Amino acid sequence: IYTDFFPRDSKRPGAWMTEFRSEEITPEGEHIRPHVTIVMNFTKPTATRPSLLAPYEVETFLHEFGHALHGLFAATKYASLSGTNVLRDFVELPSQFNENYLTEKDFLDGFARHYQTGEPIPAELVDRIVAVSRFGAAYACLRQLNFGLIDMAWHSITSPVDDPEAFECEAGAPVAMFAHIPGSVIGSTFSHIFAGGYAAGYYSYKWAEVLDADAFAKFKENGIFDRATAESFRTCILMRGGTEDPDQLYRRFRGQDPSITALLARDSITE
Ligand SMILES: [Zn+2]
Repeated sequence: IYTDFFPRDSKRPGAWMTEFRSEEITPEGEHIRPHVTIVMNFTKPTATRPSLLAPYEVETFLHEFGHALHGLFAATKYASLSGTNVLRDFVELPSQFNENYLTEKDFLDGFARHYQTGEPIPAELVDRIVAVSRFGAAYACLRQLNFGLIDMAWHSITSPVDDPEAFECEAGAPVAMFAHIPGSVIGSTFSHIFAGGYAAGYYSYKWAEVLDADAFAKFKENGIFDRATAESFRTCILMRGGTEDPDQLYRRFRGQDPSITALLARDSITE
């Protein structure tokens, strides 16, 4: 694994994981291990201060490291099915799963210490990070569902749509919260679903959240550092890449279908 953490003039912003070389078994039988890189744009250290990461930066690291593990643990024959080469609505499971550790005190105590006093991060501060993550969570959830429904509606049409506004209102009706603002249409500026590769796949953002929360719930039950659960996650999901249907991989790990219960609990959404 190659890590590239800090900004440079020649570097684009953002964070990502990619492979310099994919895992493969050559025709001669040589097993090539993947060469994975994770790239960030973290706050740089200065002459007087080390690099002090904000919670969202740690979350980004956890996210990309989850993708990296998916790549590094790959144990498949063909590069096209190895590591993160999975269906779009499954690729963010390992990355978003990892983000769950951001608010686990036992995890943070392993490294999150005050850089001058050595004090571990106070529980009260962790609670506040959780509280902030829950602010507006129900609104954000319905907003994502609305985008997902509109995306699927546009990509399911079989004849031209004469009134895009009415069309979108109907598609989003199940999750509508506010009165429609006349003249507003989402599709005309929704580049994600027409030019961004997410056509009929926008739902995968929310679906990945369902899976990552549900998967982490098993760790919460067994212990977030439980070796057997971690081994199961590795062998059932991280090693398998796209060699099997995600449904089967997930059920093998979880022992049951995913449910939305854990996600709603994490976001503190109740009826
Ligand atoms: Zn990702």
